[in-house]
This record gives sequence, structure tokens and C-alpha cells, in this order.
Amino acid sequence: MNIEQEMSLKRISTHVNFDKVERKLYGHDIGAMPSLVRPLIGSTIPDAVVQPESEEELVKLAAWAHENKIALTPRGKATSGYGGALPVKKGVVVDFWRLRGVVVIDEKAHTVTVQPGISWEQLDRKLKAKGLTLRLYPSSYPSATVGGWLAQGGAGFGSYQYGYFRDNVISAKVVLPSGEVRTFQGGDLDLISEAEGITGLISEVTLRVQPDEELDYLAISCPDAKSLQGLFQSIIAASLPIWSAMFINPKMAEFKKIAPQPEHHGHAEAPVDLPVAFLLTLTFRKGVNNRIRSALPELLDRHDAKLLPQEIADHEWESRFRLMVVKRLGPSLAPVEVIVPLRNLAHVFDEIGRKVGQPLVKEAVVIPHGAHGEPEVVVLGFIPCDQRRFSYNFVFALALTVMNIAIKNGGRPYSTGLYFNGQANRILGKERVKRLKVFKQSIDPERLFNPDKVLPGTLLGWFMRLAGIFEPFARILGNAAPVSIGWRPTEAVRGIPPDVVWYAYSCSQCGYCVDECDQYYGRGWESQSPRGKWYWLREFIEGREKWNQKMVDTIIVCTTCELCNKRCSAALPIEESWMKLRGKLIQDDKRLTLPPFVMMEAAARAEGDIWAGYRKDREKWFPEDLIAKHGSQIPEAKNIYFAGCTASYVEHDIGMASVRLLDKAGVDFSYLGQAESCCGTPMLVAGKWDTFTDIMKSNIAAVKAKGADTVISSCPACDMMWRHVYPTWAKKLGIPYDITAKHYSEVVSEKIEKGEFSFPDNGNKPQTVTLHDSCHIGRVSGVYDPPRTLIKAVPGVKFVEMEHHHEEAHCCGSVLTLIKEPAVAADIGKSRLDEAVEAGASKVLALCPCCQFQLRVSADKKQVPVEVTDLATFAGNALGYTFPDPHPEVRAQWAVFDAMIKLMTPQGFAELMGTMWPELIDAMPLKMGALMRFFGRKYPGMLDLMKPMFPVLFPVLLPMMMPKVMPAMLSRVAKLVPMPEYMAEQMPFLMPKVMDGLMPHMIGDVVPLVTGPMLNYLKGKA
Ligand SMILES: Cc1cc2nc3c(=O)[nH]c(=O)nc-3n(C[C@H](O)[C@H](O)[C@H](O)COP(=O)(O)OP(=O)(O)OC[C@H]3O[C@@H](n4cnc5c(N)ncnc54)[C@H](O)[C@@H]3O)c2cc1C
Ligand code: SF4
Ligand code: SF4
Repeated sequence: MNIEQEMSLKRISTHVNFDKVERKLYGHDIGAMPSLVRPLIGSTIPDAVVQPESEEELVKLAAWAHENKIALTPRGKATSGYGGALPVKKGVVVDFWRLRGVVVIDEKAHTVTVQPGISWEQLDRKLKAKGLTLRLYPSSYPSATVGGWLAQGGAGFGSYQYGYFRDNVISAKVVLPSGEVRTFQGGDLDLISEAEGITGLISEVTLRVQPDEELDYLAISCPDAKSLQGLFQSIIAASLPIWSAMFINPKMAEFKKIAPQPEHHGHAEAPVDLPVAFLLTLTFRKGVNNRIRSALPELLDRHDAKLLPQEIADHEWESRFRLMVVKRLGPSLAPVEVIVPLRNLAHVFDEIGRKVGQPLVKEAVVIPHGAHGEPEVVVLGFIPCDQRRFSYNFVFALALTVMNIAIKNGGRPYSTGLYFNGQANRILGKERVKRLKVFKQSIDPERLFNPDKVLPGTLLGWFMRLAGIFEPFARILGNAAPVSIGWRPTEAVRGIPPDVVWYAYSCSQCGYCVDECDQYYGRGWESQSPRGKWYWLREFIEGREKWNQKMVDTIIVCTTCELCNKRCSAALPIEESWMKLRGKLIQDDKRLTLPPFVMMEAAARAEGDIWAGYRKDREKWFPEDLIAKHGSQIPEAKNIYFAGCTASYVEHDIGMASVRLLDKAGVDFSYLGQAESCCGTPMLVAGKWDTFTDIMKSNIAAVKAKGADTVISSCPACDMMWRHVYPTWAKKLGIPYDITAKHYSEVVSEKIEKGEFSFPDNGNKPQTVTLHDSCHIGRVSGVYDPPRTLIKAVPGVKFVEMEHHHEEAHCCGSVLTLIKEPAVAADIGKSRLDEAVEAGASKVLALCPCCQFQLRVSADKKQVPVEVTDLATFAGNALGYTFPDPHPEVRAQWAVFDAMIKLMTPQGFAELMGTMWPELIDAMPLKMGALMRFFGRKYPGMLDLMKPMFPVLFPVLLPMMMPKVMPAMLSRVAKLVPMPEYMAEQMPFLMPKVMDGLMPHMIGDVVPLVTGPMLNYLKGKA
């Protein structure tokens, strides 16, 4: 693509990306391409990625592609594995992420119209709010898009009642290659469904939905495939009103048992004891429970099947999206997907068992009325293997063995995509292929829309057909390949710790973690998502990528919200892995962390807090009348209230209200006062682990000095430290630790529940409030109900939930986003605040000082009409107390931060230096400044000749110049940053530390920015 084409593409959409890493991340799907196939396809890295925001942009894009003869490849979430979303002719990948709105829900007609990029989970959430739900969805529900499933075609949960997805679509609006927008419905949907975008870009889909009724499920085991087939045939014959029927094979049950379980801060969930058999999960509406349960015993008896304990049914249903957990055993999976008639299911499975020597795990759904009117089974299989070995080619080819067996027994492959377009006649039917070909030729004769997909006639298609003929030979090699189960590296690779290497390869690229990751949705590009980071790490491990500051920052800016851990289909400890990399990159490799952390570290080391306040001022907020009862001078106490930095220096209301609440609830506690230090969270996430360790040791010692065994925090990050991080690190460092952590909401709600504490009814006016579950107290510590108990105990309160709450609550976008990219943080904060407004709340209660800070700044910036109030303050007000308004201090502190963040960038430093050329030139050692002034006046050309030397000279000279220019620098910084007095007083100490920490890393980027202005100054031009 040439520059002009790039420029014209930028004029079409504001969201265009030409970055090499980003393009790489949009150039693959979930499948790992075998090395023998790769040369036939070549590079699949596109020239650009576009994220259109409207149908109008899609229309312009189609015209642009036509004019420039450039291929367009549509992409939903790339969860398909047959290459349909691969840009095989490079060109432009059209990512539909920004087109993910609900257009209209028709509650009476039970239909919904959506944009194509919405995921099934997002749509279902919107439907459920209206009393409706999906008729059917794929097991990639957390990530796959509606447009992607229509284009790909398929069946999933709910297909027992509702068949294939296409049969539930009323119409689809499509942007044709000519730019015409056409609506397809009825039989014409044949030109869109399973056409994988070769005929147009789907811009809107209208589908049928159903009332949201409560579901019930049960689990059954069958000893063999014959029993399984017979049981399903009997269930269908009995016309039982089942909504969804799925099963897994014994190998899958066995592997699910041995696959690693999800972990939470080092504690693994207990596995459920699944029997190693065919396991069926039947799902139906609660209303038909009796009918189904009474009909089943006779059918089960007839087929030697057994009803399993409800615990297994619950587990199988709840973990239905987690099938990729078996990938942890691989680390790769070769996919095998076929549709077989139910009447031949046992034959097919028996023959597969005889011919495929590798372990094949299967999951399947049953459809009573399949494509040809008879019962069908869609079988999704995987063979665990290792994509880095040459033998992967042959294991991958075992898919052809399974396919041949399915075809021989009246079945067909599931999908065409890139690899199996040679089977299009079988998959789609000859008539349909003919119709598609004619239509394609009429609308896209140059084959620019998703080239080489679906229709036969490509080189790869022929190759795969040929491979099908030689399948018996490939099978011998595939079966002879070493079985790859339980691979786990023990050595670091290129500095990446062994377990992180394992996870990188175990990631299935399913994309469940993408949409809900705030780092991703705040920025919108794959490199920021866990999936993108794992893919990049694999590229790094294999030597195709290198660390640079951009990628270091990508690891550091993760907000540590842990939502990805909860969503991961492979149960990977994702957040913990980024934490390990922070240690490697910053602590071990001494790379640059986010610059504001350098200032925080200097402040924390000097005075024990990150806000550059004095230690002597730390306890000034403590209510005077409570000092005698709970203050820091009390020598001994069992419970310690730990306020943390932000409550101590910025949002005093939090500390004041928390201690009032604890006091009124009758809790016996004391306070560390000036012996309290920052909890260390900022240093931990900054990768400054030496400082973190020192801080942690000092806090543990301070609590022990009081003889306390319980720390009660109000700040979730402090709570996380005392509850999870300190015990782990203390164990690692051999420090005895027998301290329990509690959040004040736990302590107070316990008193409420016991009837020992209540709020007076002061005749407060009714108000509707909601709660922002902070990540560190919610997902990390599991404290969800106590704050709700507290809120609901306040008279006159109507409590409402936001769309995302409890485990699924979205992050506020603090601290790491706020200090790195304030504009992104404001967008993330706004999306959270918008949820509160949508829920009808006039107040968002937050229990984290950092969340509050961030949400207040976002509400100010984005003018969202909702008040952000601290939970303790809210409860304290209900007790009749008033507290100082924290907003002025928050705004003042933000102004400092904002200015500091801008200053601590190469551009910021260049601008700062631009204000002090006289001082900088005079500070040059060895009279170099005088010499340069002379050249500037008499021989300006000499300075230009010296220009190439500056990148070498500056890093050497700057440390020598710094002490001399520091007074000038401090006075300029004081003008740029509106600092409070106490901070200004400390600047002569803090600023040199900041410069020492940042300049060695930034100088390379600063020099090109300052060279020109400095020469202009010397030549008298500025
Ligand atoms: C864990 C897991 C479970 C799965 N379970 C199922 C299952 O139960 N049933 C099933 O059928 N599949 C399943 N799949 C496969 C896959 O998820 C589905 O095919 C899914 O519908 C693909 O959606 P997507 O948004 O990821 O589309 P993509 O994979 O991005 O795209 C699929 C095809 O559609 C095209 N396309 C995407 N969006 C558009 C658009 N707007 N306009 C035109 N063309 C477009 C692409 O070019 C590509 O050819 C599963 C996959 C995984 C990883
Ligand atoms: S912890 Fe949160 S921000 Fe970080 S990668 Fe996971 S989901 Fe994204
Ligand atoms: S990290 Fe987990 S959820 Fe994300 S793509 Fe990988 S396997 Fe899927």
C-alpha cells in the first residue's frame, strides 16, 4: 500500500492502524497454521487494520478497495479456526469491534436488530435486561460476534430446539463490493450465511430471540457411543421439550480432570470428579422439569445410561465455555470439526477410535432437525499436540482422517473457510455453490472481498484435496507423532519465566478476555488485550519480536483488574503473569517504568507516601475526639485501622468516615499514625520491588509493634496487600506473618447482621444509589455482599445494580491508565459512570480512594451527571456526621499530576529544556558552552557539522550539567506545575531523584527534540 492509499484510508476512518505489531495481531485466527501449509499461503500480515464506526464508512471502504484494487478481509473476533478471517492477500482487515450496538429490541415480536460486531454475551446481557434471551449461541459466546456467526454459519447451545443459526435470522443488511447496501432475507440469506464475507460486509443482523425463562439442567453418563446414539434417538422419539443437548467424549472428561484448574492468588479450585464416560448435559426450561425427569428413567435404563449427581450437571453447565482448558495439556490443539448423521454416530466414533491413534477430545451438540431434515450431530474435536514440532503437520492432517470417516458415513466437514474450500460442494451443496459463484462473479469479479475463501479453485484447496487422497499415509505419520500431553517448560526462554512461556502457548486465542479488558476497550487495539499480549510473547519467545519501551509500557499499564483471569477459557493466571513480567522488566532488567512512579518512589522512600506529603502530617486527618479512644498513641491493640496514602493526604473524608463508622459499630481498634507507610501497591505494579519490599517490611513491623493481629482497611489496594500479597511475599522472605485482613465493610456489616448496629432513621430523603465494585476488593478478595449490606441498611436508600457488577464489574480505569494516558482513563471512567446513569442512580458509591479519584476526574472531564461518593462517607452522613468535601483537594492534586505527567515525557522535558538554554549552555563542562556560543555567532555551519555528535554527547554531558542547572529547573518546574507548598518544599530533594531515574532512559528520545531548538538558540534565531 502506498502513502497516498494510506492517506486516503485515513480519510475514511479515524481508526486505522499501520503499526507492525498491531497488523501482525490481526493477521491470524485461533488456528495454528501447519508449516507445510504456510508456504502455499505466504504472509498473512495485512497492510492495515480498519475499525469502521458506521455503515457509511463500510460503503466508503468498499469503494476505496475497488478503486485501489486492495483486498478487504472482514474479522469478527477471529474465533473461527479454518482461516476464513486470514488476510491471505494482505490488504486491509476490517475489524467490526466498533460496530457493536443494539439497534432495536422488539419486545413484542421477540426480535432484535444489532450491529455485527456485538458479542453473544453482550447481546444476551442487553436482552436479559428486557426479559428476553438468545434462542441459541455458539460455545464461543463470550467473544464471538453475531456477524461472525452468520458469516461462518453453525450450531451451538440451543440448537436442539432451534437448529442452525441461519434459520433464526430474519434479515441481514450487507454492504456489497459495489458499495450498494442490500437487505437479504429468506432464501437469499444463502448468499450471506456461510459465505464468510466473500459477498459483502454484514452491517446489521435481525434475529429471533425468546423470553428469558429459568433453565434447569441434568447430566447423564453413557458407557459407549452405541448407548449414546440410542439414548439420543429415544429422547428425540419421545419429543422431550429440551432446549439444548451437548455431550463430551470420555477422553475430554479425562483431560478435563487432569487439566490445571483456575487459580486465585496461588489457590487452585478443586476439580469436580467427572466419570470417564460420554457425558451428556441436557438443558430445558424449569417449567418442563417434571415432564423430563419423569420420562428419563425408563430411557436411561433402556440404554444403560446413568443420571449423574446435580453437582456434575451444575459444573458442566457453568463451565460450558471453558472447553479450552484442555489446551493447557497440549500446548496446541489440532482442530477437527465434522457433522454426522445421528444414525451413524456410533459407527463414526468407533472408526475414529480405530484409525486415530492420537488422543482426540470431542464436544458435540445434537440437532434433531438437521440440514437434511434428519437428526445430526455437530462434533468439535481437538487433538492436543505441539505446533512447534514438524510432526504437527501430520497430527493436523488427522483432521482429514476424521473428515473421510464422516463423509463415508453420510456426514460432511463443518466449514469451508480457507483450508476446506475444496469441500464446498459437500459442505454447502452443489446448487448453493453454483449460486454463490454466479453472485460473486456479478458483484466482485476482481475477488477483492475475502479472497480465496469458501469457493473451490484455490491452490490451497487443491493441495488439501490431494492431502485427502494421501490421507492414509499422512495418518501413519500423524499416529506415529509423539503424544503431547502435559507439556510444561522448566527453563526460562529469552528471559521469560518458564510458567509464563507455558501460558503463552496454552492461550487458545479464543478472545474471551478481549472485550472486557479495560486496557483493551479503553484503547481498542488487540496489542492491549491479554490475547494480543500472549500472541506477542510467543513471537518474542520465537525470536521474531524484541522488547521496546512501547511493549514494556503495554505490560505495565494493565490495571491489574483481574477480569481476564475470571474469563479465561484456559484458566490462565493472566494478571499474575503480567505481574511477573513487571518484575523481570523493571526490577531485573532495569527498564523504564511509568515515569510518575519514579516520582512516587522518591516520595515513598523519603516520607512513606506517594503524594509527596510529609510523614509528620500523615495523621492530621484523624478526628480529634476519637484520638483518646482509637488514636495512634494507644500502645497496644488487636485491630489496626490502616488508612493508606490517599485517605491520609487527599480524600480525608474516607479515613474520617471509616473510623467514625467503626467506632459507632462498637469495634475496638487503634491506628498506626506516622508509623503507617504507603501499602506498596504502586511500587509493586511499577516493578519497583526493592522499594515495595522495604515498605512492606516496615508496615508489618509497625502492626506487630502494636501487638495487633488484624488490619482493617478502607482502601481495596491496601486490603489486597494485607490479605494476599504481604502473606505471599512474607513467606518468600521468611518473615513470620500471622495477620488477618478485613475491609471495614465486612466488620460493620457483620455487626449489622448480628443486630448490634443500625442506622438511625433521620427522615433522609429517598435516593437511588449504586455501588462500584472495586477490582481489588471484589474480584481479588471476594467482598461483594458486605458493602451492599451496609448500603441497604441506610434508611431511604433504593439500591440498583449497574450492568456489570460483582465478579463481572468493570474497572474504573485507575491508576495505571490515569497516570499513563489520562485521556484513555477518562473514556474508561465515563463508560463506568454511564452504566450508573443508565441504572437510574444519582450517586455512585465507591469504596476505593483511587476509584473515587479517577471517577471524579472522569465525571468532571466528561460532564457525566452523577455524583461520586465514598461509601464510608455516605454511611457516616447517614449517622449524622459531616466531612470535608474532598473535591477541591482531588481537583488540586489532579492538576499537579496532570502537569507532572505531561512534564515527564520526552516532549515535556524537551519543552522544559527549551525554557532554559542560557543555563544549560553555561552548565556545559570544559568550557564547551562558551565554545558553542562562539561557533553559533561566528561559524554557525560548524554547529550543523557537530549535529550528529549530540546523541553521543548529551547522555555523557547531562549528568555533569544537572547539579548546576537544578536551581533553574526547579524554578521552571514550579511555574509549570501548580504544586502545594509542602510538595514545592520537597522538590529540591525529589527532582534530582526523578531526573536520575528518568533521564538515562529518556535521553535518546529527548535529544532529537532539543537539538534543533538548541542550535537555533546558539545561532541567535530563538
Ligand atoms: C472456544 C470456542 C468455541 C466455539 N464454539 C462454537 C460453536 O459452538 N459453534 C460454532 O459454530 N462455532 C464455534 N466456534 C467457532 C467460532 O467461534 C464461530 O465460528 C464464530 O461464530 C465466529 O465468530 P467470530 O466473530 O469470531 O468471527 P470470525 O472468526 O472473525 O470470522 C468468521 C468468518 O466470518 C467473516 N466475517 C466476520 N464478520 C463478518 C462481517 N461482519 N461481515 C462479513 N463477514 C464477516 C470472517 O471473514 C470469517 O470468514 C468456537 C470457537 C471457539 C474458540
Ligand atoms: S488485569 Fe484487567 S486490565 Fe489487565 S489484562 Fe487483565 S483484564 Fe486487562
Ligand atoms: S488469555 Fe485465555 S481468554 Fe484470552 S484468548 Fe487466551 S485462552 Fe482465551
